[in-house]
Amino acid sequence: MSQAHVIGCDAKAEGEVVVTRLDAALNWCRKNSLWPMPMGLACCAIELMGTAASRYDIARFGAEVMRFSPRQSDVMVVAGTVTYKMALAVRRIYDQMPEPKWVIAMGACASTGGMYRSYAVLQGVDRLIPVDVYIGGCPPRPEALMDALLKLQAKVARTPVPIRPSPAP
Ligand code: SF4
Repeated sequence: MSQAHVIGCDAKAEGEVVVTRLDAALNWCRKNSLWPMPMGLACCAIELMGTAASRYDIARFGAEVMRFSPRQSDVMVVAGTVTYKMALAVRRIYDQMPEPKWVIAMGACASTGGMYRSYAVLQGVDRLIPVDVYIGGCPPRPEALMDALLKLQAKVARTPVPIRPSPAP
């Protein structure tokens, strides 16, 4: 069901009452307050930093709160070349992020290994962790990262909210 179908106004109350579903409301909050874990591994990280600066202002999408603690993040932005030497650290940090969590592979290196067909480079971070959105380019411009963020927001809006099971009697 699209977002347009789950949020609506009660016309009888002349627009003062908004009705929606709980999961739609939770996902609306979640998608507009994504906290990125900036996994800057190489040159793509410079564009990631540029996206957060005033010219592009990622705060317009509610994603300006870059966290350097995985426990406070819900979207890892892998920006750069993933070498085998760094791979286990990337995996460990991903494991330390709480659920629900998402991953953006930013740039050719993070998505496929890029131009590094080398024994030292992982040929795509999706061999290590699940990726939700890929961004092409070497490096991708900040607009591409913002586009990926919007695509991720659309995905978050469709994510079912887990129901906590009631405790055993
Ligand atoms: S995709 Fe290009 S800019 Fe990005 S990390 Fe690889 S070599 Fe650097």
